[in-house]
Amino acid sequence: GPTIGVFALQGDVREHLRMLGELGVEPLAVRRPTELEACDGLVIPGGESTTMAKLARTFELFEALRDRIKQGMPTFGTCAGMIMLADRIEDGAAGQETLGGLDITVRRNAFGRQVDSFEGDLDFAGLDGPVHAIFIRAPWVESVGDDVEPLARVDHGPAAGRIVAVRQGPLMATSFHPEVGGDNRIHRLFVDLVTES
Ligand code: GLN
Repeated sequence: GPTIGVFALQGDVREHLRMLGELGVEPLAVRRPTELEACDGLVIPGGESTTMAKLARTFELFEALRDRIKQGMPTFGTCAGMIMLADRIEDGAAGQETLGGLDITVRRNAFGRQVDSFEGDLDFAGLDGPVHAIFIRAPWVESVGDDVEPLARVDHGPAAGRIVAVRQGPLMATSFHPEVGGDNRIHRLFVDLVTES
């Protein structure tokens, strides 16, 4: 099977490793460029995107990640990982860098400060039943380029209609945390994407 890495300098790495392991792939915690080279695909977890970017610079992973993503390595970002994959950020920290690759604009901490986290059921393109989505200080997708397919939207409340999952070729991202809880269907979609490419 394919080797799928999890960017492991910061964030909820263990949850992703566990879920990938359940799906029968060889998961690999990635902290250095040689580990990245061994990967057929990569997950960028939830966590804190400014810290992730800084640590990626410190550990000399940043350019290597950017290059692999540009070369078409399948990559799946959740929450902070979505921010890392976005070409553009609104409400980012001053000078905040991203790896980019996804032709989207994300709004960081978009759902408001009173409501740091919430949960809800969403329809998700390609999956039969709804997904139970957990949002924690989550971004939403403010706008997408022509080649980006929205996969899920918030379906009620003040954020109704906001895009919270996308795909563009080999890149996938969700605003929420499919690594939390027992539903591995979204990870399976990503594993299939890695296997096909
Ligand atoms: N608010 C975080 C950030 O901007 C993302 C939160 C998360 O990954 N749960 O990086």
